[in-house]
Amino acid sequence: MKKIEKSAQFLESNRMLFQCPVCGKGFTQVNNNQFICESNHSFDLSKKGSIHFLLKQPHNDYDTDMLKYRRIVAQDELWHPMLAEVSKYITNQSGVHLDVGCGEGSHLHHLQALGLKGTSIGFDISKDAIQLAAALYTDVFWSVADLAQSPFATASYDTIFNILSPSNYSEFDRLLKKGGQVIKVIPSENYLIEIRELTGKNLIPYSNQDVIEKFYEHYPNAIRTSVSYKHEVKASIVQPLLNMTPLSWNSKQSLEEIQLEEVSIDMDILIGNKG
Ligand SMILES: [Zn+2]
Repeated sequence: MKKIEKSAQFLESNRMLFQCPVCGKGFTQVNNNQFICESNHSFDLSKKGSIHFLLKQPHNDYDTDMLKYRRIVAQDELWHPMLAEVSKYITNQSGVHLDVGCGEGSHLHHLQALGLKGTSIGFDISKDAIQLAAALYTDVFWSVADLAQSPFATASYDTIFNILSPSNYSEFDRLLKKGGQVIKVIPSENYLIEIRELTGKNLIPYSNQDVIEKFYEHYPNAIRTSVSYKHEVKASIVQPLLNMTPLSWNSKQSLEEIQLEEVSIDMDILIGNKG
């Protein structure tokens, strides 16, 4: 079956997980590869099977090269130990999962490799990111969307993954089923510190304290755990590592001269439940 047909079928069977981002009503059908709401607003499926829910094109901070570099680094398993830790805390592995700001899709794909089943939807505001995700990972439904004009239905999700991406807690509350969980992953003090030292940027010690406090305001019974490790840097991922973040590598120093044997991954994982 073609990707677009598979996605049309997915939307037919999972209509209740979505709401129209224009009028907030439910979707009634898929017709000619368009997802159509009760008021007749329609959204196109792409050939690769993703859907486009954005009403206007956003300003985009992530260019395609940056996304490709992130994928190379993800496939080099940079974030795998962190994701293994995330996986331990998922209470309903067979539920309905939403990855908020999924980027090029590698995190959600790897969580599936670690045992995540059920229904997985990943979305990002970047169309380029979703194209990359949909081209490679066919076991997730991918969409271009913005939580400020949410296409996702109320009280429909068991798990929200919020990995290195912005939060919208009132929207998370609306989306979660009773007892559902938000799993948020944020950088901690020494996250990629070797790269910050090389670029000479952001050398002020990084603190995630404000983000943690805000999370506890919304989820007073939250659990917090940390994950820290070193990742060995092969020559082939030096350039991707240096170019995958907006820190932007523009030094005159050639790649061959750079000494980067390992990088630190240092993160906090916050788990909150909707009571
Ligand atoms: Zn509508």
